[in-house]
Amino acid sequence: MIAEILCVGTELLLGDIVNTNAQYLARRLSELGVFVYHQTVIGDNSERLKNAYKLAFSRSDLVITTGGLGPTKDDITKEIAFEYFGKEAVLHKESLDRIEGYFKKLGRAMSESNKKQAYFPEDAIILPNNNGTAPGCIINEKEKILVTLPGPPKEMKPMFEESVVPYLSKYQDGILVSKVLRVIGVGESEAADMLSDIIDNQTNPTVAPYAKDGEVTFRITAKAHSKEEAYELIKPVEKDIRNILGNKVYGEGEVSLEEVVAEMLVRNNLTIATAESCTGGMIASSLINYSGVSSSFLEGAVTYSNDAKIRRLGVNKSTLENYGAVSSETAEEMVSGITKTSGADIGIATTGIAGPNGGTEEKPVGLVYVGLSIKGEIIIKKLNLSGNRQKIRERATKTALDLLRRELLKRGIV
Ligand code: ATP
Repeated sequence: MIAEILCVGTELLLGDIVNTNAQYLARRLSELGVFVYHQTVIGDNSERLKNAYKLAFSRSDLVITTGGLGPTKDDITKEIAFEYFGKEAVLHKESLDRIEGYFKKLGRAMSESNKKQAYFPEDAIILPNNNGTAPGCIINEKEKILVTLPGPPKEMKPMFEESVVPYLSKYQDGILVSKVLRVIGVGESEAADMLSDIIDNQTNPTVAPYAKDGEVTFRITAKAHSKEEAYELIKPVEKDIRNILGNKVYGEGEVSLEEVVAEMLVRNNLTIATAESCTGGMIASSLINYSGVSSSFLEGAVTYSNDAKIRRLGVNKSTLENYGAVSSETAEEMVSGITKTSGADIGIATTGIAGPNGGTEEKPVGLVYVGLSIKGEIIIKKLNLSGNRQKIRERATKTALDLLRRELLKRGIV
C-alpha cells in the first residue's frame, strides 16, 4: 500500500510550527509496512487543497491528512475532501453529543460553529476524539482511502494508534507486533553503530532507532500470523540488542527512567534525599512523579546560593573559595551534607553551569558535577553537557538518575 501524508495548515508553511505530525506518521507507517512515497504541506486554501487531493490520490492508495478539522471557516480539510469524493455531509448525532459532552466537562458552552465538526458523509467511519473536539474520519471509496486526523499532536497520535492502526491492519497480511526498548547514556548514532549488524541485516523483525529527550528507543517490529509467533521472532533480536547495549537498556514499553529508579528505591527500602543547585529541584520533582515514592523520598533541598550550600549542607566556605561552587569538591561536600543531615541511605547533589552566561574557558557552560552517596560511599561524576539552559538542566537530571540506577545495579540492587 502506498501512502501520502498531507498536512494542512498555513502555520506550517510559514514555519511557525514544526511538522512533527508528518515525522510521527512517517515513522509509524514505515513500521507498519506502509510505503510513504510523498509528504505534502498545504495552506488553508480551498483551491490548492483540492488540487493537493487530486495529485495525492493520483499517486497513492492511502492519504492521511492532519489539521484543519477545527470549527472555523478556514478549517476546510474535511469539507474539500467530501467535495472531492462527491459526498454530502450530514449531522452525525453521536459526534455532536460527544462534542457537547466535551464542553460540558470543561464547564464551557459549546459554540454553534463547533457543530460543523460533527458533519460527515453517511458511509464514513468516524474516529472519536477523546482528547479534543474534532473527530476524524475514514472514507474508503473505489480502492482509495482517506484518513483525516486533527492537527494537535496530543489528539492526532492517540486517534492514529487507537483507530487507524487497527483499521490498516486489514490491509496487511498478518499482524504487526512491536516491542520498545528504552536506552540511556548513549547517543542515537552511537547506539545505532553498536547495533549496525542487527539494523543492516534486518528483515523481520525490523529495528528502528528513535532519539528523544536525551534517550534513544529501539522499536523492534515483527510481522507474523499471531501475537505469540511475533513475540517468538522478537525474542532473539531483543536478546542480541540487550547483550550489546547491556545496562544502557533501562526499560521497555512506556516506562520512564524516573519510574524505574523510584521503583528500585521503593522495592529495596532505600531512602533518598537531594541537594540541587543547577537542576533546581528537577531530580526531586522527577522522583516525586512516581506515586509510591513517599516511603523512599525524604527531602529535597534547592541550594542555589553559596550561602545556602554553607548553611543547609555544611559546605566549607574555603572549598567554595578555593575550588568554586561548580567543582567536584563542592559536589562532594554537598552530597555528604544532605546525606548526613537527612539520614538517607542515598544522597544526590548537582552543581553546574546551565548558561547561557557564566561560562569560562576553564569551566564552560554545560559543566556539571553530580555527587552520589550510597551507604557512605561517594561517587562524583563530571559531565560536559550541550544544549540550552533547559536542555542542560534536563540532561543533568537524567544523567544523575541514570548514575544512581547504574551504581545500584553494580551493587546487585535491582
Ligand atoms: P483544532 O480543532 O484544535 O482547531 P485542527 O484539526 O483544526 O484542530 P489545526 O487548527 O490545523 O488543527 O492545528 C491546531 C494546532 O495543532 C496547531 O496550532 C499546532 O499547534 C498543531 N498542529 C497542527 N498541525 C501540526 C503538524 N503537522 N505538526 C505538529 N503540530 C501541528
